[in-house]
Amino acid sequence: MVMTYTITRKSLLYRSGLGFYCVNHVQGCGHGCRYPCYAYQMACRHGRAKDYQDWCRPKVVGNAVELLTRELSRMRKRPDSVHLCLTTDPFMKGYPEIRKLSLKIIEVINSYDIPCSILTKGILPVELADQKVFHGANRYGISLISVNERFRMRWEPWAAPYDARIGALKYLHDQGCLTQVHMEPYPTPNLIEQDLEDILQRVAFMDSIYFGGWNYNPVTGKFPGRKEFYDRQAEILRHFCATRGIGCEADT
Ligand code: SF4
Repeated sequence: MVMTYTITRKSLLYRSGLGFYCVNHVQGCGHGCRYPCYAYQMACRHGRAKDYQDWCRPKVVGNAVELLTRELSRMRKRPDSVHLCLTTDPFMKGYPEIRKLSLKIIEVINSYDIPCSILTKGILPVELADQKVFHGANRYGISLISVNERFRMRWEPWAAPYDARIGALKYLHDQGCLTQVHMEPYPTPNLIEQDLEDILQRVAFMDSIYFGGWNYNPVTGKFPGRKEFYDRQAEILRHFCATRGIGCEADT
């Protein structure tokens, strides 16, 4: 177990530039993705992370539950749903206290009859299957852009292994929860040769998927036929989802 640091914030719940409500109750992320991580770049730009090492040492918002409860109870019009998280990972591997806090935060939001959407490269906790505690309309999601462990170690070095990620998602699906897969940033073949359909087969039980290209690394731009490649992947994805009744959105 790694020691985590604590910070205090003045506010927690906010509407993101993408239009939905969001909670980021941790600053930094122990997964240390190297795509690079957009949240890491923004944290450096705005002085919330000194460097990569600093970013990879997550700092927990110590007053998160108190802030959230106050904000939700004071809102006149509450959000239809809340996303965890845009700038960190709620279930980052190796941080049990962050896992515990994230579960508490979801429980608090759900207690206002507001469902959450959750996205992780860690392991979704089995506790989330308990619909007496957590909202039945919560959406549980994993990020998944490959099933090749060598690729993960290069690009998502401290995130959970792909099998474990998928296994936790499948467990929640089997317990009747809504599940989703976030497939972004999907790599071009000059980063890894892989078959999209093979990856999709591993998560064919999911309810919905979002697919996006790898836009913020110059290496993918050097792949000749990049646009045609992504168009073809989007076609494969749409066909796969249409034949299985899976909700699908592709932005390449
Ligand atoms: S898991 Fe998400 S927030 Fe964490 S380093 Fe990776 S991309 Fe960034």
